[in-house]
Amino acid sequence: MGLPFQKLKKLWLLYLFLLFFAFFMFAISINLYVASIQNTDPQQSHPKPAPKRRSLWPRKNIVAHYIGKGDIFGNMTADDYNINQFKPIENEGADGRPVVVPPRDRFRMQRFFRLNSFNLLASDRIPLNRTLKDYRTPECRDRKYTKNLPNTSVIIVFHNEAWSVLLRTITSVINRSPKHLLKEIILVDDASDRTYLKRQLESYIKVLAVPTRLYRMKERSGLVPARLMGAQHARGDVLTFLDAHCECSRGWLEPLLARIRESRQVVICPVIDIISDDNFSYTKTFENHWGAFNWQLSFRWFSSERKRSTTESSVKDLTAPIATPGMAGGLFAIDRKYFYEMGSYDSEMRVWGGENVEMSFRIWQCGGRIEISPCSHVGHVFRSSTPYTFPGGMSEVLTNNLARAASVWMDDWQYFVMLYTSGLTLGAKDKINVTERVALREKLKCKPFSWYLEHIWPEHFFPAPDRFFGKIIWLDGETECAQAYSRHMKNLPGRALSREWSRAFDEIDNKAAEFTSLIDLERDKCLRPLRDDVPRSSLQPVTVGDCTSHAQTMDMFVITPKGQIMTNDNVCLTYRPPKQGVIKLLKNRNATTSNIMLTQCASEPSQFWSYDMDTQQISHRDTKLCLTLKSATNTRSQKVEKVVLSMQCDFKDITQKWGLIPLPWRL
Ligand code: UDP
Ligand code: MN
Repeated sequence: MGLPFQKLKKLWLLYLFLLFFAFFMFAISINLYVASIQNTDPQQSHPKPAPKRRSLWPRKNIVAHYIGKGDIFGNMTADDYNINQFKPIENEGADGRPVVVPPRDRFRMQRFFRLNSFNLLASDRIPLNRTLKDYRTPECRDRKYTKNLPNTSVIIVFHNEAWSVLLRTITSVINRSPKHLLKEIILVDDASDRTYLKRQLESYIKVLAVPTRLYRMKERSGLVPARLMGAQHARGDVLTFLDAHCECSRGWLEPLLARIRESRQVVICPVIDIISDDNFSYTKTFENHWGAFNWQLSFRWFSSERKRSTTESSVKDLTAPIATPGMAGGLFAIDRKYFYEMGSYDSEMRVWGGENVEMSFRIWQCGGRIEISPCSHVGHVFRSSTPYTFPGGMSEVLTNNLARAASVWMDDWQYFVMLYTSGLTLGAKDKINVTERVALREKLKCKPFSWYLEHIWPEHFFPAPDRFFGKIIWLDGETECAQAYSRHMKNLPGRALSREWSRAFDEIDNKAAEFTSLIDLERDKCLRPLRDDVPRSSLQPVTVGDCTSHAQTMDMFVITPKGQIMTNDNVCLTYRPPKQGVIKLLKNRNATTSNIMLTQCASEPSQFWSYDMDTQQISHRDTKLCLTLKSATNTRSQKVEKVVLSMQCDFKDITQKWGLIPLPWRL
């Protein structure tokens, strides 16, 4: 009797064990499967790496609009958009630390990333009042401000912003601003459709410690009309604009207001720190940076040394702001009345883009200043794609906004921008009406764009009347253009006596139309970076290649009368001997062992060149070495590559002869 029962029990246990085991294996395989799908597209599963030093400089890709690829669960539904999954966990993200979303949520995390182009699940785990470090330098921490500062309205406009991100912005403003300086917070909803931004937001802001009002745009208009609406309702002495995904850090407000108190003609920006779109960590950025624009008017950060503005205090004051030719646009403070005196914004600019360009030129040209205060740190979530729609089409809207800014403020340079920005043509001017803005420019008696370039942005890399703009071709002696050029140069009287770039520019200008018409895009070879796919800010070897007709390939150069050879994005031809002191050409590993590079302009001796009209050689001014074209085998790819380096000058050497072929840039 007993035996069968014992046996049965054992079988039972075995059965249970097997069942359990099978279930376990099933779970593992599902997990592996999910992981494998997630890994098929590395960009999707790891939305983006944490910012490295280079990505400190945010870039907006203005041509590529983010179109969701459709994840494995299909498109997001209205339910997905509208749920508010904010579930803060104590100490998550404290002191600006990164958030790690547990593996079981990775799938959802990836799915919800695309809603806002940032990791919503990470943000939803962080309390609204998370702690941040004090990112100020000791000098800034020690600086005392008078009690008597102007107060401010903080204006935040948003379109479909995530709940946790928007409210953390508001909370950080309230918690880290002295109460007597914060008059009010004004929210402007640019026609969002998320349901949690309706009643739920209205009741939430009623109980805040600082008066907070919400206005709504009747229809989707863009950040300019939304900010204008916010400003209209503001009553503070100063308007402080913030994006809807920021976190203000300790002591952020006082330096801004103090600077405006010193001078109401200053538009003052904080240092914009980085909140990772991937894990919401807060990273401090350098204080010593400033901004300007590239040839296509995209905003760029630069870090070369600039003089500080002199304030009331001492000359070598490490808390003094830095003048910046351009502003990023999202975060700044301005005296409220001054904002209107200076023409607020161009209200015809839609959705996103261009308004920071317009404001930068306008403020400087019409007598104001734009500065960055090193003592004010505000974090901003930088993202690499735009999550929202662009009614009217992204390219159309952007080029329209830029054409408005350029045609009102840039004088002759507007044509340059229109000629060399994809999506823009000279015809863009016919589609816009800027009469009111031109009248404003006259009323305010604003200075010309040439003044702005010369005095506010002397480091600029745009063409100018005393500069060369065009292509640098290799004079192989065969193409028609090369022959015409060499002939012209050989016939110039006194050519051997003059080593002045400006003399060369003049002589070339006389023949500009002829040379330009002779250039053969396939046969002529233009000086250009060796690779097209590396970031412009990095060190790039130089080669010659097919000449192209669009600006993106970086085979167009500006040469200053002093001999700096520059191209778009503040990149300059640079003599840079390899560390070992030997030119290895391409024999070993890769091409980076050449001694000629394209890299960030810095006004250093390594970046000044001479031109010999007699021999058509370009030589490095300090070392007297000549630009030479050499062939070499890249041992990695086994390909023969041509690379430009500098070697002993030899006037008979055909690989050292270069011609300057001008391109049109103004009417
Ligand atoms: N924004 C808006 N309407 C728009 C586009 C943007 O209200 O049509 C808001 C957006 O929510 C954000 C601010 O304007 O608070 C700046 O936009 P965004 O952050 O996308 O610009 P970025 O910082 O990427 O330059
Ligand atoms: Mn933003």
